Amino acid sequence: MSDASKYIILLGAPGAGKGTQAEILRERFGLAHVSSGDLFRENVAKQTPLGLLAKTYMDKGELVPDDVTIKMVMERIARDDCARGVIFDGFPRTEAQARALDAALAQANKKIGAVIYIRVPDAVLVERLSARWSCPTCGAVYNQLTSPPRVAGKCDKDGSALTQRDDDKPATVRRRLEVYHQQTAPLIAYYQRAGLLREVNGEQPIEQVTLALTHITQAL
Ligand code: AMP
Repeated sequence: MSDASKYIILLGAPGAGKGTQAEILRERFGLAHVSSGDLFRENVAKQTPLGLLAKTYMDKGELVPDDVTIKMVMERIARDDCARGVIFDGFPRTEAQARALDAALAQANKKIGAVIYIRVPDAVLVERLSARWSCPTCGAVYNQLTSPPRVAGKCDKDGSALTQRDDDKPATVRRRLEVYHQQTAPLIAYYQRAGLLREVNGEQPIEQVTLALTHITQAL
């Protein structure tokens, strides 16, 4: 894999499987997994000023403003573990964020190797998000329908009681999907124009999606 090809963006709606796949790719290829949603949730949990601000948007299913988001992600990718490459999950979500990322990578003499659009129909996303539960201790994600924990309501890894994300409740899920279509879906055309877009059918079982992503990553 050449140096320029280690920066991969997973694009897709909430619930498309970006986080699950990014974790698998991180382990398999030794890349950093940078999830803007996880960074915001860490700040919310620690009640930092950034977290308190972000929460007001997250609770409504709206995007956190670009300037705040871009600054947070740029600080994250400046850390040592990102030097070998990054799987971006949930970032960029607007054209301004995409441009800021292009500029930051160019400045570091790096560029995006591939943008993988994980396509899933809205009806499936709604079903998936309402069945999603996660571990407040280790962050492991489960789905009551497709990947339930071994013991109902308990994390397989550390036994903690599983919780549902506030923004996975039905009204917020609907708003998050609207926001995705309005503000993030235009990035599909943005990256298509740049010749970087690859598409994977995200309705397939997790293992099949992983296989497709692995092939793309290896071939870069
Ligand atoms: P996620 O876990 O990626 O679904 O993100 C959860 C929430 O965090 C989103 O609904 C937004 O409120 C916020 N968020 C995450 N990433 C971004 C981003 N790149 N730009 C703006 N807001 C974001």
